[in-house]
Amino acid sequence: MFWKNQTQKQIVILGAGFAGLRAALDIAKGLPHDRVILVDQKPFQVYHPALHEVATSLRWQADVFMLKGTVAVEIDDVVARRKNITFKQAKVELVDVNKRIVRTDTGDLAYDYLVIALGSKTDYYGIPGLEQRALPLKTFEDGVKIRNRIYESFVSFSRTQDVHNLSFIIGGGGFSGVELASEMVNCLRRIAGRERGTVPAYSVWLIEGANQLLPGFPAKLSNFIKRRLEYLGVKVLTGSRITEARDNGVVIDNHVTIPGSTIIWTGGVRACGITFNKNIPLDSKDRIMVSSRLNLETHPEVFIAGDVSCFHDKNTGRPLPQTAQMALHQAKHAARGVISLAYGSNVPIYRPKKKHPFIITLSGKYAAVYENNKIIAGWPAYLVRKFSDLRYLMSVLPWRKALPFWFKGSVILLKND
Ligand SMILES: Cc1cc2nc3c(=O)[nH]c(=O)nc-3n(C[C@H](O)[C@H](O)[C@H](O)COP(=O)(O)OP(=O)(O)OC[C@H]3O[C@@H](n4cnc5c(N)ncnc54)[C@H](O)[C@@H]3O)c2cc1C
Repeated sequence: MFWKNQTQKQIVILGAGFAGLRAALDIAKGLPHDRVILVDQKPFQVYHPALHEVATSLRWQADVFMLKGTVAVEIDDVVARRKNITFKQAKVELVDVNKRIVRTDTGDLAYDYLVIALGSKTDYYGIPGLEQRALPLKTFEDGVKIRNRIYESFVSFSRTQDVHNLSFIIGGGGFSGVELASEMVNCLRRIAGRERGTVPAYSVWLIEGANQLLPGFPAKLSNFIKRRLEYLGVKVLTGSRITEARDNGVVIDNHVTIPGSTIIWTGGVRACGITFNKNIPLDSKDRIMVSSRLNLETHPEVFIAGDVSCFHDKNTGRPLPQTAQMALHQAKHAARGVISLAYGSNVPIYRPKKKHPFIITLSGKYAAVYENNKIIAGWPAYLVRKFSDLRYLMSVLPWRKALPFWFKGSVILLKND
């Protein structure tokens, strides 16, 4: 058990993803004499923006161990940067905001300040058959399962000659669905190429319920991405809701069936449900409703950052999007909030960034950067993406760990492209 020492403050951070790692490093730096305890159920952070590469990597180019090294950031390497951070691998079970205790599967933790950054999980919206039949893409293991399924599909096809085995359906045209679809055609082309003309055809469907890909993003970017995907050979359907998943495909809007033996679901997330000892307001996606300072109205010592928080943006009238960039921005603010409280000052109001450049990879060494209503596409955008990956790694890892991680990942994943 980690109980508090009387003189030192104890800050507990739940979740070591984008938001949790950033908050831990900033708080440990700002409060060097206090103790920061970082809790996560896994010993590594999953670098989600590269997960689609794991799912579509070629077996003859990388084994599972090598792949893990491209997306799994060891938390021990991050916490080693600050003496006053301790990492505890445990599953969070309950937060008692009255007693200021976090219950985990390996014991209780007392806190003076708490940052909740537990992220999100896949949401199947109760669509019949979806959870049972679709593969999600959220963890490293999910990426490996999709990769295995792609190879199994080719084996099934060679046994049965049924082309439905080579029809891949991706539900959800957000960031992860778009990146996965564009990279999957590349991967299928390479595998089919090895089969020396014995594979007649394969297809990748990307199905989105909203009227555009990347819902909530400008139509200009969305149209550009749609054209690029269609050019690559992806069959894009927008304004089409998956209403049922079956063994042989999905049903769209209750009447049209798209045949396919592999269904991948990237269509939605809900916050990682967390149990409190008392009623804390949540939105319809289980996100914790936060104050204008990113903490709980009733318990100002509890901050929430990343996918698990619901902050209503006055500029758009909507909750902030669940992206890594938002998670990092909120985590920096939460850290400032904790440090302010520890020094007896007021917590500043959170002001979300109005403009974020968006970078999305669109197969191989091709990406698109969107900023100020302009799109830059092609390999220069791909380089921007690679440098943004490096910048992130350098911000959490010591440079002697960050550089080899980035370099090794780039070499392994570039072989795919
Ligand atoms: C495939 C994919 C691709 C994406 N691509 C992009 C992109 O290109 N750009 C972008 O901006 N965003 C992207 N995103 C979204 C981005 O990854 C998330 O918005 C971001 O990870 C949110 O950060 P977070 O810290 O809130 O949560 P996470 O990074 O998910 O971290 C949450 C942590 O909490 C831990 N945890 C959860 N529950 C418990 C528990 N009960 N006990 C202990 N630990 C727990 C988890 O293990 C995890 O480490 C992508 C997401 C996915 C899935």
